[in-house]
Amino acid sequence: MSQQETDGRIDVDDEGFIVDTEDCEEREAAYRARGTSRPITVVGNPVLHKECKDVTAFDDELAQLIDDMFASQKTAEGVGLAANQIGVDLKVFVYDCPDDDGKRHTGVVCNPVLEELAPEMRVLDDSNEGCLSVPTAYASLARPDYAVVRGQDAKGNPIRVKGTGYFARCLQHETDHLYGYLYIDRLSKRERKDALRQMEEGTPRYETVPNS
Ligand SMILES: [Zn+2]
Repeated sequence: MSQQETDGRIDVDDEGFIVDTEDCEEREAAYRARGTSRPITVVGNPVLHKECKDVTAFDDELAQLIDDMFASQKTAEGVGLAANQIGVDLKVFVYDCPDDDGKRHTGVVCNPVLEELAPEMRVLDDSNEGCLSVPTAYASLARPDYAVVRGQDAKGNPIRVKGTGYFARCLQHETDHLYGYLYIDRLSKRERKDALRQMEEGTPRYETVPNS
């Protein structure tokens, strides 16, 4: 259990960002132990291509969803997972992802909104990106190497999450999901086609939801 769950307060650093680097191993394992892994939706499934509903009830049902999302993320070996990737139309994502310094971040964000970056903070990084919902495909995609997301935790408390490097990419990627966008929607027509071809040719290492 995390500190914020045991004492009801939110653990924040001196800039007001949530502390998501403590006890990652234990917290991730606890979520996952309570959860059930579910199959992953893939590109073409309507739930991935529209904006999800806001979370309004921060209740046991939401807590169970979050547990299931951590379980599913682990099964699929993901570093982030949005609720619509297990077929649930709600603005929630979970993450378990290393940052620029290799430091592990584990947490959950409901109703995420990406904060606008000051121009001097906008440094693009064109690393490779992949998505559990576009299995076996990868493409280079330029994104800012720093991101701040604000939203709410599982109890409805307002939070801000800060990410650098791969974790910044993750925060942007997962927020995109909840507004109906996949990373391939940000690629050129030709790159998108190539990613879909990679997906056709590959075999996912986890269970997916067939598209009808
Ligand atoms: Zn994804």
